[in-house]
Amino acid sequence: MASASSSAPVRVRFCPSPTGNPHVGLVRTALFNWAFARHHGGTLVFRIEDTDAARDSEESYEQLLGAMRWLGFDWDEGPEVGGPHAPYRQSQRMDLYRDVAEKLLEAGHAYRCYCTAEELEERRETARKEGRPSGYDGACRTLTAEQIAAYEAEGRSSIVRFRMPDEPITFTDLVRGELTFTPENVTDYGIVRANGAPLYTLVNPVDDALMEITHVLRGEDLLSSTPRQIALYRALAEIGVGGGLVPSFGHLPYVMGEGNKKLSKRDPQSSLNLYRERGFLPEGLLNYLSLLGWSLSADRDVFSIDEMVAAFDIDGVNANPARFDLKKAEAINADHIRMLDVKAFIEACGPWLRAPHAPWAPERFDTAAFEALAPLAQTRLTVLSDITANVDFLFLDEPVADEASWAKAMKPGADALLTTARAKLAEAEWAAEPLKEAVLAAGEEHGLKLGKAQAPVRVAVTGRTVGLPLFESLEILGRERTLARIDAALAKLAV
Ligand code: GLU
Ligand code: ZN
Repeated sequence: MASASSSAPVRVRFCPSPTGNPHVGLVRTALFNWAFARHHGGTLVFRIEDTDAARDSEESYEQLLGAMRWLGFDWDEGPEVGGPHAPYRQSQRMDLYRDVAEKLLEAGHAYRCYCTAEELEERRETARKEGRPSGYDGACRTLTAEQIAAYEAEGRSSIVRFRMPDEPITFTDLVRGELTFTPENVTDYGIVRANGAPLYTLVNPVDDALMEITHVLRGEDLLSSTPRQIALYRALAEIGVGGGLVPSFGHLPYVMGEGNKKLSKRDPQSSLNLYRERGFLPEGLLNYLSLLGWSLSADRDVFSIDEMVAAFDIDGVNANPARFDLKKAEAINADHIRMLDVKAFIEACGPWLRAPHAPWAPERFDTAAFEALAPLAQTRLTVLSDITANVDFLFLDEPVADEASWAKAMKPGADALLTTARAKLAEAEWAAEPLKEAVLAAGEEHGLKLGKAQAPVRVAVTGRTVGLPLFESLEILGRERTLARIDAALAKLAV
């Protein structure tokens, strides 16, 4: 039968199950499918695989949609946009799957299996002991009408099992090359539960066939289901379900986390929400995730999504496991923050300048003061949420009380330095350069270099030992508030 040819218009799908929170592995899969579709001028189908009522939730579905929107992905068919193969939520397609299962049974591609869980386990155990493959042994493949009647009379329930062909299955993985699976290792598998509920093993390929998917790009963890699905596609083509194509498969490499273990959904590092809350830019995160198994070129790690789309193809995907490196993700995000124009940067900071992130009273926020300081902050942030601590000294009545910073900067002699600095600042013209001269001169009187002289001033005024360039900060804070804070620090040192 036909396999998706390179000339057919590309149709790919992103088909998550709405369980739990979206994670970075899922985002990488979405990204590679989206970029592949856009690169080839193809169609991205967004499908929700919510056939497991016990695990799926509406909340998780909403989160998935929210995540896709936040990341900037658009889809050509799917929830909210519709399309010729609607509905795109599998929970609304159950009748269709039951119908396909019936047809597979009628055509002999599937059969009812009456084995109980205990019987299956016992036979698996024996097979293991005898060193034979321990998959399903085909016991119900050739039941006679009498045997079936006897089982039914016993009141046994049955699942529907797909009958795998007796020949090996070979396919060319777009990432891994040619792969062959032998029948002993891919045995007949369940496609409908005893209670009549269709399983993922059935509905996923059925929808891929009906939706005429040409390329399946998904994680390597699903590789073992591919020979089963290819056999099922062939059976579907035979019974006239779908367009008769077997899609091409490309399995994206594993992502390794800490300690060279596979990054798991449960790893805090893998939660997409965490990156959103920390203030990753979608373009920064996507740039980083694109490097998990792909690269634009050997010497360029930072690029725009448009550059990725222009360059992305599946043959550039590497089969080796990729390592998730948070530091690198942050560095790339910092580069994307720097690449914004100042206006866009200011806008992107918005959420972190308001409750619940910002600790100041909303009416104390001063847009002009913030915008004056923003360009200095822009070159220093790793994530947008850091903006809050960098500018809070402007909008709080008193600087934050950071005891560690205080202890570090307010060594013996700090009071004398601060007293001199205060006197010189009080006299200075209120602009960054003269303010710097004032603190420099104060330091000289006490035998201190600028760096050492500046530390107590910074902690007195901002509460912290690190922050934005000090003299620009003082200029924007103003003379009155600066001097009042130095006075308050001197008072605290005096007790
Ligand atoms: N719903 C499946 C999952 O989230 C999709 C697998 C596939 O891409 O075929 O694992
Ligand atoms: Zn059986």
